[in-house]
Amino acid sequence: MKAHAITCLVVGAGLFVAGGRFDARPAGGSAVSTAAVANRAPLQPGAFQLLPLGAVKPRGWLRGQLEIQARGLGGHLDEFWPDVGPDSAWLGGQGEGWERGPYFLDGLLPLAYQLDDPRLIAKVKPWVEWTLTNQRPDGAIGPPKNADWWPNMIMLKVLTQYQEATGDPRVVPFMTKYFAHHAAQMDASPLKEWAIYRWHDELLSVIWLYNRTGDAALLDFARRLAKQGFDWKSQFADFRYTGKVSKADAKLNTHVVNNAMALKMSGVWWLVTGDPDDRRAVDRQLATMDRHHLLPNGVHSGDEHYAGNNPSQGTELCAVVEGMFSVEHLLAVVGEPALGDRLEKMTYNALPGTFDGDMWAHQYDQQPNQVLCSLRPRAWSSNGPESNLFGLEPNFGCCTSNFHQGWPKFVSSLWMATPDGGLAAAAYGPNEVSTTVRGNVDVTLTEDTEYPFRDRIAIAVSPARAAAFPLVLRVPAWAADAEIAVNGARQANVRPGTFHRIERTWKAGDRVTLRLPMAVRATRWFNDSVALERGPLVYSLRIGEDWRKVTDGMKHPARPPAVDWEVHPTTAWNYALAIDPAKAAAAVTVTEKPLGPVPFSPQGAPVELRVPGRPVEAWAMVDGSADVPPRSPVDTTGPDQTLTLVPYGSAKLRITAFPVTAPARH
Ligand SMILES: [Zn+2]
Repeated sequence: MKAHAITCLVVGAGLFVAGGRFDARPAGGSAVSTAAVANRAPLQPGAFQLLPLGAVKPRGWLRGQLEIQARGLGGHLDEFWPDVGPDSAWLGGQGEGWERGPYFLDGLLPLAYQLDDPRLIAKVKPWVEWTLTNQRPDGAIGPPKNADWWPNMIMLKVLTQYQEATGDPRVVPFMTKYFAHHAAQMDASPLKEWAIYRWHDELLSVIWLYNRTGDAALLDFARRLAKQGFDWKSQFADFRYTGKVSKADAKLNTHVVNNAMALKMSGVWWLVTGDPDDRRAVDRQLATMDRHHLLPNGVHSGDEHYAGNNPSQGTELCAVVEGMFSVEHLLAVVGEPALGDRLEKMTYNALPGTFDGDMWAHQYDQQPNQVLCSLRPRAWSSNGPESNLFGLEPNFGCCTSNFHQGWPKFVSSLWMATPDGGLAAAAYGPNEVSTTVRGNVDVTLTEDTEYPFRDRIAIAVSPARAAAFPLVLRVPAWAADAEIAVNGARQANVRPGTFHRIERTWKAGDRVTLRLPMAVRATRWFNDSVALERGPLVYSLRIGEDWRKVTDGMKHPARPPAVDWEVHPTTAWNYALAIDPAKAAAAVTVTEKPLGPVPFSPQGAPVELRVPGRPVEAWAMVDGSADVPPRSPVDTTGPDQTLTLVPYGSAKLRITAFPVTAPARH
């Protein structure tokens, strides 16, 4: 399916709309469109196009997850955390005037509109209104005391989503004036510090605007911006950071959040340049990061600089949500199905694994092998002693304000538009998408599933009238023997690791069903350790958890109603798996349990794996973390025990990368 990735752009005739043709919808008199907007020449068309905010709405358990976020910190943070409270300088007050207000909005806004939640929409509006009505005559935006381009880049992402959800006609002229201002000022006031490493986040909004106005000055501005930005392509052409960096070597180019954001740089820049080497740089960067820093939970290490493959190193929460956002855009640009697999792995494991079940507390750093969360110095590259506590603001408050975008933007990315007027399932989860397909036909697709906990997906297709358009369905690389059927008729040539294309005339009542068999598989990690995976989920040893409130010693203690927590283990964790990794499926018993309201909690785990294991007495804690897994195979004594593994996101204490016993013990 890579073949359909380029060439045939159908402008103005179907799903892609160049130059701002809007459907008139009765939404408060505003023009709201749920149609994708194509990349306008001379930009590369890209493989897919993201749909506007509001086209995809969560259903089922996924809606429940967004509601958990809304009931938790996500929907209440501004009520008691001053950095995003009513005195924010982004609301005209005297308070924080840098990144925290825009970060909060970048997730609160899509959450509000995806849930159609009037309480949350009412929280969003004053921020947007203050920004839109306080642009200076020269085009400058945001708090006058801020002299950094970086936080404005975040607010632009907020405003593009706001325009998509509401059709507010002020956004396009506001952004036009702002970019003219930035272009006029950029020689005298070049990008500095963080903005140098994150320039491509502004590029996303420049491209968004160019696709709506066709103003060639924007592409000139993009090229000047690139000259001031860090060249990530060069860093990965000759990569020097093949392990954990020392504090002395830690710089902004080894920073985990900058690196997570930079995963999309070469791909998004390729839309402008069309240079095949920029396109190739995408794969080179991902492969290099995976080789040296990938962890079994699907994200790269960084606590908060490159930290290598040891599963006791951490990953900062900001890097999880920014990495997801990067992969969402990369998938749209290059259309590789493996990026959908990667996105689901990050979203369904690393994201929930670093929150408590009700999303009132989060970590700064999570560990794949996380056996004790406590206030003490650890072998992080540079982070402080609070970093793996669950709380309001452990270590530093960036993640407190930035985590909000994770789930909502994932929902926005479940479906994407194809260049020939169809729809692509980029990732799976229960949802409903309403948009416009080839021939300007409105269509709604309702996807019912308990994926990723179950292997069946049912998609009801409801076009306003019979319409010919392609449905492009991702078949994950792990889904051997995947089956796809249309109205019960099984499709031929369904191959793992591809997008399966169904081109036909669809009519109301058509039904597509998928079965994506989730055989348990063993994957190899640090020191030949083994992780067990099943579908997009990674499984971790369930460890008894004792949650203890932290009352002393925090730099920024939680304010009520938030609480800071240590989590202490009440059961053993130092086990080897007594299996032959090549025959993992035969050694594991899978138990599906009812899908409850809080699947990402130890009690609510919807799937359990039972697998034989043995204690490894020599494997102990070092400085509060599990020591590196002893190199496999390991010698053990004593009889087999039955270990229970649950989804990584459900286990807040966990072993994910296990040693395995010597073959005689399997
Ligand atoms: Zn952070």
